[in-house]
Amino acid sequence: MREDFLLLNPGPVPLSDDVRTAMSEPMVSHRSSEFEAVYERAQDGLDYVFERSTLDEAETSAGGTSLVLNGTATMGMEAAVANLADEDDEVVAVVNGKFGRRFARIADRHADVTRVEFDWGSPVDVDAVADAVSDDTAVVTMVHNETSTGLLNPVEAVGELAAEHDARYVVDGVTSIGGDEFRIDDWYVDIAITDGQKALAGPPGVSALYVSKRAEAHIEGEDAPFYEDLDWHLRKSESHQTPFTSAVPLFRGLAVAVEDIRHEGMSERIARHRRQSAAFRAAFEAMGLDLFPDLNEHSTYSNTLTAVSLPNEVYGDPDEFMSEISERGVSISGGQAHLGGQIFRVSNMGNLTSEHVLRGVRTIGESFDAVGVDVDTEAALDAARDHLRQ
Ligand code: PLP
Repeated sequence: MREDFLLLNPGPVPLSDDVRTAMSEPMVSHRSSEFEAVYERAQDGLDYVFERSTLDEAETSAGGTSLVLNGTATMGMEAAVANLADEDDEVVAVVNGKFGRRFARIADRHADVTRVEFDWGSPVDVDAVADAVSDDTAVVTMVHNETSTGLLNPVEAVGELAAEHDARYVVDGVTSIGGDEFRIDDWYVDIAITDGQKALAGPPGVSALYVSKRAEAHIEGEDAPFYEDLDWHLRKSESHQTPFTSAVPLFRGLAVAVEDIRHEGMSERIARHRRQSAAFRAAFEAMGLDLFPDLNEHSTYSNTLTAVSLPNEVYGDPDEFMSEISERGVSISGGQAHLGGQIFRVSNMGNLTSEHVLRGVRTIGESFDAVGVDVDTEAALDAARDHLRQ
């Protein structure tokens, strides 16, 4: 793999040299004071990210605990649902893409699930969610940034419904937290989940949870899955340890990644992600391409990921186009499940520079040209530059 290979996939994202170096330090015991210091640094940095993900860095939580779990975001999603819902409890799962569907499937294994389902890429109709949530609902699950479609979902509006019915609200912020606004208390979020490898720009293999004080009161432990017993994780985290052996190198990488975020500052980081995603959208539109999802007033385009409909010339068979991109040292993603062959997706999560964004635009433009799709790459670069300068 060339050293300058540019990952523009929606995770894993490129790692800084500091994160890479931290992961190769000599091993220590997960019960040592050295490890406790690592976990404490990771928790401090995550507290900052979870509690101050706003454009002015104002505090958005009245108190909660940041946890790191061995295992990617799916582990975090399961931990959240399985600790808050018993088998007879009703979980309302909002689904308008692959990860909303995954949340529903996870919940199926632990509770009685009602799906409020929309086509992938269609906005969430909050009235339909209102019809499904009742005083019998124990948990509502929602994905903030639907990575499979590039749509940002109305977390606050659904959170209000959950709060009205005193249901716990579990939000997958896997591809938003660390790159976009996320307001824990204002949006009534009880447990927020994110992944090391996405907008935090850490390694794959660990997930991070923010467990609010409200959620803690509902977590008892006894019926929880053994490995994902959040009561146990919360108790051990008071001394900056985990119940079982921690993935030490990954915790180290994550600790450095979240410290880097604090150095940049969440307000600047959110503004940068917004500039960069606006630049990608403008560039693809200047190429004459259509952005993928249909929007209404409750939804908006993602600020961390751009999904674009493939033009007719490569629709249904994008392999050659994708190979042209990787031959130029860049990697992007195609559509998932039934969206395969219909869209492509480009991430701007993590620590990308303007040069990275422009390189992505140029590479995609040149690759379209190489497979016979006539696009104006220079116009696309100009459109991107306009946004990157703002
Ligand atoms: N949720 C969202 C929104 C995601 O984008 C992803 C991964 O892309 C996940 C959950 C699951 O992450 P993983 O497959 O790493 O467990």
